[in-house]
Amino acid sequence: TDTFGVQKALTQLGITAINDGTSTGLNSFANGELISSYSPVDGSLIAQVKTSTPDDYQTVMAKAEEAFKVWRLVPAPKRGDIVRQMAEELRKFKEPLGQLVSFEMGKSLQEGLGEVQEMIDICDFAVGLSRQLYGLTMHSERPLHRMYEQWHPLGIVGIISAFNFPVAVWSWNSMLALVCGDVYVWKPSSKAPICAIACQNIIKTVLERNNLPEGISGLVTGEACNELLNNDKRIPLVSFTGSTRVGRHVSKTVAERFGKTILELGGNNAIIVSEHSDISMVLVGAVFGAVGTAGQRCTSTRRLIIHESVYDKTVAVLKSAYAQLKIGNPLDSNNHVGPLIDKMAVESFLNAIEKAKAEGGTVVTGGGVVQGEGYESGCYVNPCIIEAENHYTVVQEETFAPILYLMKYSTIEEAIALQNGVPQGLSSSIFTNSMREMELFLSQSGSDCGIANVNIGTSGAEIGGAFGGEKETGGGRESGSDAWRAYMRRQTNTINYGTQLPLAQGIRFDL
Ligand code: NAD
Repeated sequence: TDTFGVQKALTQLGITAINDGTSTGLNSFANGELISSYSPVDGSLIAQVKTSTPDDYQTVMAKAEEAFKVWRLVPAPKRGDIVRQMAEELRKFKEPLGQLVSFEMGKSLQEGLGEVQEMIDICDFAVGLSRQLYGLTMHSERPLHRMYEQWHPLGIVGIISAFNFPVAVWSWNSMLALVCGDVYVWKPSSKAPICAIACQNIIKTVLERNNLPEGISGLVTGEACNELLNNDKRIPLVSFTGSTRVGRHVSKTVAERFGKTILELGGNNAIIVSEHSDISMVLVGAVFGAVGTAGQRCTSTRRLIIHESVYDKTVAVLKSAYAQLKIGNPLDSNNHVGPLIDKMAVESFLNAIEKAKAEGGTVVTGGGVVQGEGYESGCYVNPCIIEAENHYTVVQEETFAPILYLMKYSTIEEAIALQNGVPQGLSSSIFTNSMREMELFLSQSGSDCGIANVNIGTSGAEIGGAFGGEKETGGGRESGSDAWRAYMRRQTNTINYGTQLPLAQGIRFDL
């Protein structure tokens, strides 16, 4: 039976059969052991994927090096046209790819489709960008001299992605890298490798149709490739999305060889609920932020910092909203909360709740694993709300699961200090109708995060803005604004069109 059309979607995406070790997509050389991808939705085996051996990795890199020599010479607007065609293909495959994302990762079908829409949007953004890779011109201090800067492609970009956005994070990086004249080698999460193969299959048709080398888009699979990428001097930029723990290691390893990194690491995002807020808006922002994608977004809401005067009311409203949450198969649009990615994630959810209790926290609602028919994968949990204090060790950490910590404040300054009082600095938000509070929150003495919202939750972002965060979130920026610059190298050029050779700073060197 194919109740939710998943088998049909797999066929459409060129993932031909279960146990099909050859389903490894474009420019992917994989002769290593098989990894099995199980769906957290029902625990079933979706397919097995062969991993890349060190030799396979070398083959992919050699193809990428060759492809870069060709691709960097394609004019940027023409590169944009190739990306435009990729967007067209993604539009065609939005439905099956969204279904696969939902089935392999466990997020709701709407969010799976939303993720593919985000890929399409970043392609469109990149197409426009391909005509706007601007450098500045400067006035030289020397006569008859012209000075300007230009941006050149970097080379091979290594993309290492997390399981929770198995396709969008790749597209944020790959589509920008492509218009910038780079090629890439992608190492997806081993928890969602089939999504990566599906993307490669989609890209392949565009490259083939345009007689472009397949090495423009490389894929390597399996954990052994991580260190190969980190240490590879042929990769000037590693864009890493994942946990702070792994990101710290990637950062050091790549820096050791003077490579660059874009680090998109963990968050610990809070919403400040002011006494001047609109409670119905808070409700949607906080509940979707905390339980959407089962709390497995880097921007998921983990803490609610509530003004003491509206604390009891907010807790009551949240409790009744949580009581109405439907937990179950994410492909069924009646459900609000799908599964966690695997049983290890369920363990860390349960452990975090125990730790919070041991540190003095009180469970308001939820917790525990959901049992029974439809929950056989063992990955469904009851979203949990806990009254806690900001300094608890467990509150200071990111637990990638639907746990929401509640805390009280009395002054706005105190609320901002609590919001900033964690090691991570990704997303933050205030719900208030007070102009003074919102401006303070957005000012230089307000939120210290890369994203600061007013009357919008912490979760999710539009591709037009630069995405990323400070402190242990890693400092990287991806997607919109001028994030493209990280994928290029800047060159300053000075041209003397006179007949003398004056030196800068008036230095004389007479011969
Ligand atoms: P993870 O750190 O376990 O894995 C991320 C990737 O790193 C995977 O592809 C994994 O195979 C790879 N990896 C493992 N060891 C490595 C090594 N030694 N060198 C290089 N790569 C290695 O993270 P996850 O569980 O897949 O994802 C969840 C985490 O990602 C959360 O912390 C979440 O906040 C973060 N995340 C951040 C953003 C962001 O934009 N800031 C977006 C999505 C996810």
